Amino acid sequence: MGLAAVVLGIAGCNTVPVTGRKQFNTLPAGEEMQLGFSEFGKMKNSVPINRDPDLNALVQRVGRRIAAVASPDMPNAQWEFVVFESREANAFCLPGGKVGIYTGILPITRDENGLATVMGHEVAHAVARHGGERISQANAINTVGAGLGIAVSGSQYGALATAAYGMTAQLGVALPHSRKQESEADEIGLVYMARAGFPPATAVEFWQRFAQYNRQQGKSTPWFLRTHPLDDQRIADLQKLLPKAQVQFKNP
Ligand SMILES: [Zn+2]
Repeated sequence: MGLAAVVLGIAGCNTVPVTGRKQFNTLPAGEEMQLGFSEFGKMKNSVPINRDPDLNALVQRVGRRIAAVASPDMPNAQWEFVVFESREANAFCLPGGKVGIYTGILPITRDENGLATVMGHEVAHAVARHGGERISQANAINTVGAGLGIAVSGSQYGALATAAYGMTAQLGVALPHSRKQESEADEIGLVYMARAGFPPATAVEFWQRFAQYNRQQGKSTPWFLRTHPLDDQRIADLQKLLPKAQVQFKNP
């Protein structure tokens, strides 16, 4: 790594909105967004889309409010909110504002506030450019592709991006976000929720329901459990962050 890493480090220094953390990110934001758009297109062509009008109206309504407060931190976003038919309790936001909600998570989100918790968290991953950060780290250490047996094809970043963004349906393998990225997404998501007028304390209630869901799943480890920090720690951390988020809470 030596000199090359040092040069990359200077060239690839990026500041995360809300937390102000400096990150190593060599993936140009424009290219990252293009990856997000193309992956989302593939997703929409391969996974069944839910067309229930009431459900979609709910997702759009909550999504627009989160997008409105996140947009200043992600210029040029092209927001889109799609409900996918899947039993997986999952959701994601790709770079550029492409949000997918799986129907399997709806019994746990339960209402607008629960949905805002999930969307705030996933949008935060995109705004903080966690995917690009993973790809940059992977390229820098130059071992992840080989280690996972993923052939890098098409775009220089293509397969790694697909893995980093958690497109598990196609690949069956994902690079998990780090604990640090997960905590950061929780923090930013909580602030966005509050700014968008969703009571931040309801985030804690959602993660408690999610923890209960994980416990009910027993030994079959769900995707979320492998890629998200331990439930008790996350809930404790969020409770600590609540006063900071409350200050930003605006009653709609
Ligand atoms: Zn996450």
